[in-house]
Amino acid sequence: MSLHDQRLVLPDDEHNRQLVANVHPANWVNPEPTGRYNIVVIGAGTAGLITAVIAASLGAKVALIEKHLMGGDCLNVGCVPSKGMIRAARAWSDLKKAGEFGLHIPPGVTYDFGAVMARMRKLRARISHNDSAHRYKSLGVDVLIGQAHFAGPDTIAVKGEAGNRSLSFVKAALCTGARAAAPPIPGLQEAGYLTNETVFSLTELPPRLGVIGAGPIGCELAQAFARLGSQVTLIEAMHGILPNEDREAAHLVQQQLVRDGVTLHCCGKDLTVSQADGEKRLTVESHGQHYAITVDDILVGAGRQPNVEGLGLEAAGVQYDKTGVIVNDRLQTTNPRIFAAGDICSRYKFTHAADAMAQIVIQNALFPHPLGLGYAGVDSLVMPWCTFTEPEIAHVGLYEKDANAKGLEVETYTFKLDEVDRAILDGDEEGFARVHIQKGTDKIVGATIVAAHAGDMINEFSVLMRAGLGAKSLAATIHPYPTQAEVSKKVINLWRKAHFTQRSKSLLVKLFAMLRR
Ligand SMILES: Cc1cc2nc3c(=O)[nH]c(=O)nc-3n(C[C@H](O)[C@H](O)[C@H](O)COP(=O)(O)OP(=O)(O)OC[C@H]3O[C@@H](n4cnc5c(N)ncnc54)[C@H](O)[C@@H]3O)c2cc1C
Repeated sequence: MSLHDQRLVLPDDEHNRQLVANVHPANWVNPEPTGRYNIVVIGAGTAGLITAVIAASLGAKVALIEKHLMGGDCLNVGCVPSKGMIRAARAWSDLKKAGEFGLHIPPGVTYDFGAVMARMRKLRARISHNDSAHRYKSLGVDVLIGQAHFAGPDTIAVKGEAGNRSLSFVKAALCTGARAAAPPIPGLQEAGYLTNETVFSLTELPPRLGVIGAGPIGCELAQAFARLGSQVTLIEAMHGILPNEDREAAHLVQQQLVRDGVTLHCCGKDLTVSQADGEKRLTVESHGQHYAITVDDILVGAGRQPNVEGLGLEAAGVQYDKTGVIVNDRLQTTNPRIFAAGDICSRYKFTHAADAMAQIVIQNALFPHPLGLGYAGVDSLVMPWCTFTEPEIAHVGLYEKDANAKGLEVETYTFKLDEVDRAILDGDEEGFARVHIQKGTDKIVGATIVAAHAGDMINEFSVLMRAGLGAKSLAATIHPYPTQAEVSKKVINLWRKAHFTQRSKSLLVKLFAMLRR
């Protein structure tokens, strides 16, 4: 591993060496282009990998350019390491609750943060094979390692140690993702801080951690670090946590975070950072009180910023703004030969969104569309998501307020997990399923689930919504007993009961009376 790579993926251990050998192999030599590519993809995160692999499997001539680590954020500094850490934190938290289950854990049981992180690195290295440069090469993709930029409307230049190249394309896909936004907080730059790019390289637990931003990334990691023993202070400018979520759902998670030892300062104003004697000091006003918090490290998870710099987008006629590259419903940029997918252009910054968008790019960029027919559109995607705190919050479709804003009248039903047998038996009673059904129909327009495995449970609603099936289909679907997923059927039963009117009941009473004659 070169010095450059060591700096990029710390610590320098066997797992990270394996990771780098897969996703940024040393001595890689960029292939010499032998003519025009059907599609050139910039960025080998989820969006770029999926675009490239499908294009190659269909027989297209495709090049994939990555400047840093194939696999992008998800594999290297996002979903994979965070969920690895979260799993270990959950194991430790479960152990602390063992008494509830009649298990007596002898005093003195400890954990090893270094081993938690080593496990994560080991699993990440194992998974990285799927995204490896050699695998993509074997699948027929020309993999180039280096920094890409548009040298003209149909030419991309690649620069790097693996060889400078010039690639001409019929179509191109911009999949360069996003990075942690640096909020303009006085003193933050000088004090230094962790982001998702550096936090997973820690080998020692920060005894006191300040987390700025209570969005999904901030909440997931605040809970994980608190469970692993850090004294965590979470600072959020808005009220409560997870400002974009269903308020009741977010409140349940907030209560759990507090039980896990996280101190929350929400509605935070005038946040400043200073440093002295190796310590960092955060000052903030929250709900009329001034706080000064001393921490060892600060983790910033306050939004994402698109990677648009250095790409020569102006030369290619691709417009962008502070939210990213501007695309139409077909994911075409302002240069119709250049498409975009993933965090660079999406308000849904998820791996599965990047994957779904890549498939739209393939359909729209690679195939002819006689008379403008056969295009796929991003607006028609049914997009679920999940925040992997404990409990998890998963959502699909509209929230009640969005439905109202669209002029849709909805009926909302909520069923709590403390009435679901399996949740009671599992000790997972905190949570609920909530569904919004369009009035006068059985159409499900949105659902939120708060549960230990809400991310798995939401899929049932996504399938129904994607297939255009309604509440009646769910009501008619048998769910194994006892499962936590029964909550989905139980919440729909509330809708059924509500529609079983007094009038229907009196008709039935009359019918049964007749049948007794
Ligand atoms: C801590 C964290 C946890 C997350 N957890 C989840 C989760 O649980 N579930 C989920 O669905 N999503 C999660 N996400 C979001 C998910 O990681 C992203 O949505 C996803 O990685 C986006 O993929 P992408 O392909 O658009 O971009 P990226 O993964 O960012 O890939 C872009 C790639 O482009 C490369 N690149 C940029 N510029 C150039 C250039 N000029 N030349 C060549 N290459 C370039 C970059 O190096 C990078 O590898 C998480 C994110 C974070 C930060």
